[in-house]
Amino acid sequence: TLANDKIPLPVDIFGTRKNSMGLNMNIHSQGDEFIANVRSYQNNQWQGGPIINGQLVESVQRVAVTSPQHTNHQVGTIGWADAALAEEALAIANKAFPEWSRTDVNVRAQALETLADKLEENIVELVALCTLEAGKTLQDGIDEVREAVDFCRYYAIEARKLMGQGQDMPGPTGETNKWSVQGRGTFVCISPWNFPLAIFLGQVTAALATGNCVIAKPAEQTGLVAFRAVQLALESGIPGGVLQFVPGKGAEVGASLVSQEHIGGVCFTGSTTTAQAINRALAARTGAIVPLVAETGGQNAMMVDSTALPEQAVTDIVDSAFKSAGQRCSALRVLYVQDDVADRIIDLIKGAMQELTVGDPMNLETDVGPVIDGVAKTNLEQHLADIQHVGTLIGEASMPEYTAGGTFVAPTAIKIDSISHLVRENFGPILHIIRFKRENLDQVIDDINNTGFGLTFGIHSRNESFYNEVASRVNVGNVYINRNQVGAVVGVQPFGGQGLSGTGPKAGGPHYLYSFVTEKVLTDNI
Ligand code: GLU
Repeated sequence: TLANDKIPLPVDIFGTRKNSMGLNMNIHSQGDEFIANVRSYQNNQWQGGPIINGQLVESVQRVAVTSPQHTNHQVGTIGWADAALAEEALAIANKAFPEWSRTDVNVRAQALETLADKLEENIVELVALCTLEAGKTLQDGIDEVREAVDFCRYYAIEARKLMGQGQDMPGPTGETNKWSVQGRGTFVCISPWNFPLAIFLGQVTAALATGNCVIAKPAEQTGLVAFRAVQLALESGIPGGVLQFVPGKGAEVGASLVSQEHIGGVCFTGSTTTAQAINRALAARTGAIVPLVAETGGQNAMMVDSTALPEQAVTDIVDSAFKSAGQRCSALRVLYVQDDVADRIIDLIKGAMQELTVGDPMNLETDVGPVIDGVAKTNLEQHLADIQHVGTLIGEASMPEYTAGGTFVAPTAIKIDSISHLVRENFGPILHIIRFKRENLDQVIDDINNTGFGLTFGIHSRNESFYNEVASRVNVGNVYINRNQVGAVVGVQPFGGQGLSGTGPKAGGPHYLYSFVTEKVLTDNI
C-alpha cells in the first residue's frame, strides 16, 4: 500500500537532512511521484481517539473531522476525551513519572530520534493529513513535517547536553558539590491547530526529553494528525504510561487539566486570552506553583523605508502576510511604508496580490488555502466589515468558484491611518498598511510597542544604521531584516515573543528546556 511505499526523501541542499538544523525544503525537490502519493490519500478515512496508557480508548463522543477547503468532505472521525478520562490519564502519567524521570537521558533522546526517523518515513501521509485536516498547502505541509523532525532531533541534542553528567561545582567549601536537573512531573501540553504537528510535537518532545510525562491535548480542529504523531511516538519507544493523548474540548479537557493539583507544568500555544485564563486557573488551584510556558499572538509590523529594494520588499510582504493564509502568529499584520515610496510599493502589492492563487491546497499552484473553520472566517469577515469604516481597500485576491465550498477568506490589503484601530490580533490573510513620514519615526516605534504584543518585526532598508536603530528599539522577540518574517528555523532562529506574545523561553532555542526541569544540588561532605 502507499503508506508503506518507500518514497525518495527530499534532498537538502546542505546535505544535513539528519541534522537538526533543517532548512525548509522547496516542494519541487520532492518530485511528482511524491505529490501523486500525497494526493492518493484524498479519500482516506482516518480514525483516531484518546490514547491512554498506550491503548486507544473508545470514547463516548465521536466527532466528524472535515476539510476546511471543502466542508462537505469528511477526513475521518475522532473520539473525544472528557474531563474524567483526562484525570485518569493524569493519574497514570504521574505513576509513570519516577521511572521515566530516572531513565538515562540517552534512552529518552534516542526515542525522539527514532520518532524523527518515523516522521520522515511517514511524510506522505502526514503531509496529506496536514493538507486535508488543517487546510495546509503542500509546501506548508512539507515544512510542517520538517519542523517537527527538527524539534525531535534538536531537543534530543539539547537534553543530552543539559542532563548528561550534571556539573561539578568546586569551590571553597571543601565539599563535593554537584548540580543536576530533572523533570518536574507531568506536563500538560495544549497545542494549536495552525502547526498541528510541529508545535504539537515541539511541546511534547521538549517535555519528554527532559524526563517529564505528558498529557497532550491537541487543538479541537486537528486531532487526527496529532493522533498519528502520538502513535508514532509510542512505536518509537516512548512508554504508554509516559505519553497520554486526550483530544477533546478545550473548555472541558484543557480547563480540567490545568486545574489539577498534581501537574508539573503547562505548555501552551494559542491565544493570549486563553493563556491568561490558564494562568488564572494555575494560580487558583492547590498544589505546587508550576511553570507556564506560553507562546501567544502578535500584532506584527514591518517597516519599509525609502532605501528598500521595492521588488524584494513586496515579495517578502506578500509572503509574510498571506502565506499559510496569514495563520501564523509570526505573520505580518501591519505594514509601515515610508511616504516617499508608498505609492510605488502599494502598486506593486496590488499587482502581486492579483497573482496569488487561492484554492485547493492539494494543488501545487495554490499559494493560499482556506482559514481553519467557519468561526475563523466569520471573525475575519467581521473585522473587515468594521475596519472598512476607518480604512480604504487597496487590493483583494480573486476567489475562484472552488472556494465557495470551504472556509476561505480573500487575501485583502487595506490602508488605515493608525495601528490603534486594531484592537485584537486578526489571525488570517489581512494586511493593514500605514504610510509614515521619516520625521514621525519615534511615534511609529511607540505605536508598535504600545500594542503590548512583541512577537515578530520585519524591516526592509539598505540603510544599516537606520535598521539597526529601529531593530534595537522595537520590543519584539524576532526581528527579520531584508527578508520575510515567517518560518523561524529550529535551532538557529529560536522563536517566541515578549509582553502579550508569550512568556518565553523561545521554542527551538538553547534555553527552552530549562522551563521543563527542576534543579538539584548534591553536597557531599566526604
Ligand atoms: N514558528 C512559526 C514561524 O516562525 C510560527 C509559529 C506560530 O504560528 O505559532 O512562522
